[in-house]
Amino acid sequence: MQQSSLLDGKVAVISGAASLRGIGMATARLFAEHGATIAILDLDGKAASEAAALIGPSHRGYVCNVTDRAGCQTAIDQVVAELGGVDVLINNAGITQPVKTLDIDPESWDRILDVNLRGVLYLSQAAIPAMKRRGGGAIACMSSVSAQRGGGILGGPHYSAAKAGVLGLAKAMAREFGPDNIRVNCVTPGLIQTDINAGKISDDKRVEILAGIPLNRLGDPRDVAGAFLFLASPLSSYITGAVIDVNGGMLIHG
Ligand code: NAD
Repeated sequence: MQQSSLLDGKVAVISGAASLRGIGMATARLFAEHGATIAILDLDGKAASEAAALIGPSHRGYVCNVTDRAGCQTAIDQVVAELGGVDVLINNAGITQPVKTLDIDPESWDRILDVNLRGVLYLSQAAIPAMKRRGGGAIACMSSVSAQRGGGILGGPHYSAAKAGVLGLAKAMAREFGPDNIRVNCVTPGLIQTDINAGKISDDKRVEILAGIPLNRLGDPRDVAGAFLFLASPLSSYITGAVIDVNGGMLIHG
């Protein structure tokens, strides 16, 4: 049921949102509660459509590999044709790999950088002209605490590098597209319980991690969705090029 009109009449594109226990899906659900029409983009078009249908009949799913520039354009063109335009883009799709520096092979470097960083560029390139046609928009990009502290819990150095690259890319886009009334911001989550890390943290490790989190719990996908809602909505109308930590205090810095 709709609770408020923060995103009333807005079309929100969310990448990597077909994973039912993921941050993208939690964001899609929250945005829909606040009045948005959702376009879920993910690798498996059927899974994306099914996830969208779970939210409600007006929402849509589209196949999109964010590393494929033409595929990003096709997906955004479909969204515009079927839903009328694009007002919000959440660059959420991402993958990780727990390896150390000396073990990163060229293929792994490319794979991690391509999905987490190149994908943000390609999907933004496809969406920005559509946002301009609507007179503006809001883009929020998924980075990570891993970018800020040189490693989160599970991701390797290539993941840290990709997520740090997202911060620079987003800030540069914020500068470039501010005059078009397009705001670009990032979130940097700590450890959020999703399929990306499910079953990969031992009980001992969990106790150790919690000792470093002032709020004394791991994050829930909805915790991140709330930050995305703020950045997508007019509540953040004068905020661009910013980074919001969503980490329970895991990294408190100046
Ligand atoms: P998840 O695995 O549930 O979701 C990731 C989604 O991205 C999946 O639906 C997957 O199919 C999709 N995806 C992967 N490659 C893709 C591609 N090439 N094109 C389109 N979609 C693709 O994990 P999650 O934890 O919800 O992750 C969402 C984002 O949050 C990722 O960018 C991740 O790096 C980031 N993140 C997660 C955490 C955490 O602790 N869970 C912390 C910081 C940042």
